[in-house]
Amino acid sequence: MAPATIDTNQATAFGATVRGTVIRPGDTNYDEARAVWNGMIDKRPALIVRCRGAADVIAAVNFAREHDLPVAVRGGGHNVAGTAVCDDGLVIDLSEMRGVRVAPHERTAWVQAGATWADVDHETQAFGLATPGGVVSDTGVAGLTLGGGIGHLRCAYGLTCDNLRSVELVTADGEYLTASEDEHEELFWGLRGGGGNFGVVTAFEFDLHPVGPDVATCLVFYPSDRLTECLQAYRAYVKSAPKGVSTLVFAGELPDEALFEGNDIHRQKFAVMGCYAGHVNDGERKLSPLRTLTKPIADLSGVRPYTEFQQFLDEDYPDGMRYYWKSLYLDGLSASVIDRIAYWAEAAPSPLSTVDIWQLGGAIERVDAEESAFAGRHAPFLLGVEANWERAENDEANVEWVQDCLNDMRQFSDGSVYLNFPGFLEGGEETMRATFGPSYERLVVLKDEYDPSNFFSRNQNVVPSGTTRTDGGATARE
Ligand code: FAD
Repeated sequence: MAPATIDTNQATAFGATVRGTVIRPGDTNYDEARAVWNGMIDKRPALIVRCRGAADVIAAVNFAREHDLPVAVRGGGHNVAGTAVCDDGLVIDLSEMRGVRVAPHERTAWVQAGATWADVDHETQAFGLATPGGVVSDTGVAGLTLGGGIGHLRCAYGLTCDNLRSVELVTADGEYLTASEDEHEELFWGLRGGGGNFGVVTAFEFDLHPVGPDVATCLVFYPSDRLTECLQAYRAYVKSAPKGVSTLVFAGELPDEALFEGNDIHRQKFAVMGCYAGHVNDGERKLSPLRTLTKPIADLSGVRPYTEFQQFLDEDYPDGMRYYWKSLYLDGLSASVIDRIAYWAEAAPSPLSTVDIWQLGGAIERVDAEESAFAGRHAPFLLGVEANWERAENDEANVEWVQDCLNDMRQFSDGSVYLNFPGFLEGGEETMRATFGPSYERLVVLKDEYDPSNFFSRNQNVVPSGTTRTDGGATARE
């Protein structure tokens, strides 16, 4: 189908119906407005509307439907596949809707859907409270929450979506509704892990927990020639997982000039990063085994403000660099898995790339699998393969490395993936079915009810009955 065209008069008329701004090709801020975090993505929307509230979102959805425009929805713009933008369509950009209102006595926060985790942490920490977010503070709340959300508090307080009380959204036919345990319950089920398939979320309400202001953290760098024995010890630690501890391992060159010099800078390393959600003295004690797996190259562990820990990795993921990520739930951390992780970390063409292991379990597995659409509660670990590099001429080598690594690691997995990391999926609907299992059909029923024409298709797409998948991913590469 030829892309719909929007002339100046139509764009001006639409602009008059919203409080926010409408940006078009040729406007001075068009290139800035269409750019997303991943520099691999280069999409040219017909219109971008920076919404100021739910009324603008309703107007945008109605305008796109009436003019048959493809739609992309932008929260924080951090999706690796760049699903927040599209060619020739309308981008519903929520990045100016960043309000956060905390009710300290109820321990809840109402968060607009363009907020980042830095916005949420800033407001909630004023009251010594937090909800589990992601490990980089400028990631958007919206995309992360709708896909599940695994961060530094996950084993203590669950996924981000486990902490949702309600979701306010605009559906494909422009209807505004609230989904919660008491209203539109089935939709609420689907919004917790089913991604951006059912509407444009305008706000979330989260449960909060007492966290901080200081937390005990660990971040220890070790030489990779000791990876096998150390990860075996790490596996034993995690098995008896001290309650409240959430950890993450990343392996690669990790060439941090501020931290390492001489031979150390280009040496293969791995790091163990973790946090304890509770009293700092208990936390320091519980994290201490992770600091002595062998002799560290550097140890940045310590008690620090929660907000600082939440921002610790921000600088490692600058806007506009080139990124290609994938993920896979792992059955376990056997000696063979560890060997292959060591191999692939060393084989990375870019020194900035890493192979990551996310500890799962704890509060994540305590939630019943049927309680939400999220599909990864069964796995003890999640593998993340992150190619991060600077120059376009290295695209092919980096993408190939991720795909080869994934193909090899599938032998240690049931093939299901964490839908927030891979960006777009190689297997399309097949991977969605493998990931969601029996819940996929339940999601299709929900999609048929709320979005039968697949108006919201630039996402990890649940394909409604009777339609075929459209362009979907708005992605540079599968
Ligand atoms: P966007 O690119 O703005 O949106 C992505 C998709 O989400 C959209 O295409 C749309 O389908 C949907 N969406 C966004 N906003 C809305 C809305 N208001 N209504 C309906 N649908 C919407 N994930 C984790 O779980 N834990 C982490 O620690 C973590 N760390 C990350 C660190 C970095 C540097 C990056 C780049 C990503 C990280 N992620 C993490 C993955 C992250 O969860 C996803 O990339 C997520 O899509 C980002 O959300 P966003 O709002 O920024 O994305």
